[in-house]
Amino acid sequence: VDPGNRVVLRGHLMCAAAELPLQEQGDLFDPKGELSSLVKEMERERLLLRSASGQEWYTTKRRPQREVDIRAAGETYTILEEKTNRVVGKNSGLRTLTECHHGAIYLHRAEHYLVTKLDLERKNVRVRPVRTPYYTRARSEKETEILERQRSRPVGNFVVLQGRLRVTERITGYEKRRISGQDLLSVHPLELPPVVFETVGIWLEIDDFVKEAVQRTEGHFMGGIHALEHAIIALFPLFALCDRDDVGGISIPLHPQLGKAAIFVYDGHPDGVGLAERAYEVLEELLEAVLSTLEGCDCEEGCPGCIHSPKCGSGNKPLDKRAAILILKTLLGKVSPRELGLENAGMGPGDDGVPLPAVRPPVPQPRARRILFFDLETQKTAEEVGGWNNKHLMRLSVAVIYDAMEGGFHHFTEKQVGELLDRLKGADLIVGFNVRSFDYKVLSAYTPLALEELPTFDMLEEVRERLGFRLSLDHLALHTLGERKSANGLQAVAWFREGRMEELAAYCQKDVEITRRLFEFGCKEGYLLYETREGQKVRLPLDWDLERIMENLKEALRWGKEKH
Ligand SMILES: [Zn+2]
Ligand SMILES: [Zn+2]
Repeated sequence: VDPGNRVVLRGHLMCAAAELPLQEQGDLFDPKGELSSLVKEMERERLLLRSASGQEWYTTKRRPQREVDIRAAGETYTILEEKTNRVVGKNSGLRTLTECHHGAIYLHRAEHYLVTKLDLERKNVRVRPVRTPYYTRARSEKETEILERQRSRPVGNFVVLQGRLRVTERITGYEKRRISGQDLLSVHPLELPPVVFETVGIWLEIDDFVKEAVQRTEGHFMGGIHALEHAIIALFPLFALCDRDDVGGISIPLHPQLGKAAIFVYDGHPDGVGLAERAYEVLEELLEAVLSTLEGCDCEEGCPGCIHSPKCGSGNKPLDKRAAILILKTLLGKVSPRELGLENAGMGPGDDGVPLPAVRPPVPQPRARRILFFDLETQKTAEEVGGWNNKHLMRLSVAVIYDAMEGGFHHFTEKQVGELLDRLKGADLIVGFNVRSFDYKVLSAYTPLALEELPTFDMLEEVRERLGFRLSLDHLALHTLGERKSANGLQAVAWFREGRMEELAAYCQKDVEITRRLFEFGCKEGYLLYETREGQKVRLPLDWDLERIMENLKEALRWGKEKH
């Protein structure tokens, strides 16, 4: 690694600032040099906070006080030579359980020791020097619970999230392996308490179409995500000045909280020391490095140079290198839908049969109400992301809001999604067409916020409830207002590809305008017009009334509170 590499330096500055504030006056850096410009850059990105005096920088990493069960992870164990009581070394709790359990061969400064006793009460380990032809490796089972989602963003064909995790690791036994050749000699069970600790991690949420693509090639999906997890952890130290032992990983084909597969990479230090934040930021570069390592390694089935991990709790099983490459290329959007066999995978918008969530809006403010009319367009078609179940992967191209309080339109690109979300959060009522089962799903990739809990009036849902079937926005606009939409979603994706952002924004704005006029028409006249299959233009009676809509939302809020 080039030590002048900004990526590495940034990681180093973060670590340094976590221990002691960075000093402008100190010998740490020349205020006019390269480091100084990096510090300023990190200050702008709010990774570092500058003191009021202007002479010190702190990290923004919070360490909130909370009750954390770190039964073993955060404690220090002393390793003693059995006969002489000489201190051989110290080890952290989690490593003690994996490296210094009864029967383990503990390697320290090129000396081998056999562990004869692990005393969890006194927090010490008894060892005796030995010469053996074998080494040991712990077998473990890990699981993780997501405690809090802190941030999220879409990457390629997946969403990456950062959040607080509770990791539980159980050491279930250990293997003896011959030093030369690594042959498995025997397996021994162990009974040890689980190690539980809270930390910060990132996770890649992997949708079912990725699994299906692997299965079509007769690859091993679990072996693929497991191999990918190992390779990510092996290469991460290139981006963060840490050791591969400083991070942990879990790959799981069906996470109970997510309902889908995920790869977790977490900070191995209880509460985290900023490694997860780093991983979240450099993820694209990291995954590109992983892909070139996997594709560049000459081995057939995997080797210590690519997907084997010396610390794997399941003895490097199962691993599937080819599946790992396919999964990674699919996640990064480097495989076309045709190659994936995904064409015509879509089922039509909204036909996913998901029950409507309860509406639990914030309490409306007593003053004037902020009503927003809202619509968005996407960068990708449903087909390209594996069907309409994966709207969260379609990515925002442009969004338009009409703020009825201000009487003006606002446009947002993907870069401005934070401002868009702030606007939506500040609304007393959001009116859209199919907004719950489309727009909010697309936006869910960008926020841990439960968008379905925003105070929302979805005109499509209202119409469907009345009629028992759906009518398109175009149909209702044509028959009610005598107007047509100016394009459609597929055209919008094409415009985005061609960089025709003005046409795209104009089209999206037109849809918002139509939505607003339909809503106002419905409220004022008490109906919308549509055409039956027989070609008759008829009224769809409605009881849309702003006061009643707000009242219903309030009631839903009360209902939501009672339910909890
Ligand atoms: Zn290899
Ligand atoms: Zn493993």
